[in-house]
Amino acid sequence: MNSRSGTFDAVPLEALFPEASVADFGRLRRSADGIDRVRTPGKPQLWEWFPQHVRFPGQSMAGTPEILLAEVSLYDEDADWLEASLDVEWTKEGLLNVWSAISVACWCEVDHNAHYIDPVERTVIGSTSLADAFEAVTHRFIQRLAGPLDPEFWRAHASLPCREHE
Ligand SMILES: [Zn+2]
Repeated sequence: MNSRSGTFDAVPLEALFPEASVADFGRLRRSADGIDRVRTPGKPQLWEWFPQHVRFPGQSMAGTPEILLAEVSLYDEDADWLEASLDVEWTKEGLLNVWSAISVACWCEVDHNAHYIDPVERTVIGSTSLADAFEAVTHRFIQRLAGPLDPEFWRAHASLPCREHE
């Protein structure tokens, strides 16, 4: 996919979200600063963005068209992993939606590769602005970074098979 990446300073907010206001952009930046404050000092969060999705690309596309994405690896050892993600994406109906979930390695008998757990989302509709949605979901994303950081905890939480230890 044709994406760009960088720290939040480099994200071309005005181009990605032409409908949003200057006040919204200020609130988005403050939310992103909140993420950087809980990351390792000197290692700000990297974001990925998809300029080809600024306009709703329509329902026919496979998968969710994402506009802006942040992912954090919470655990990655010995073929097991846990990640937190936050993204601004389109709904099937062409509404902006901010979404966050935990994803964890699959250890089912049938390999699903990953499972998404504990998703939260806010759709930009009515009185909910992009900044409102981004602030609410970023708040949950930051909580995820604080833990639990154990993939087994999250698989148990979602009633998924735990990893078989040989
Ligand atoms: Zn599975």
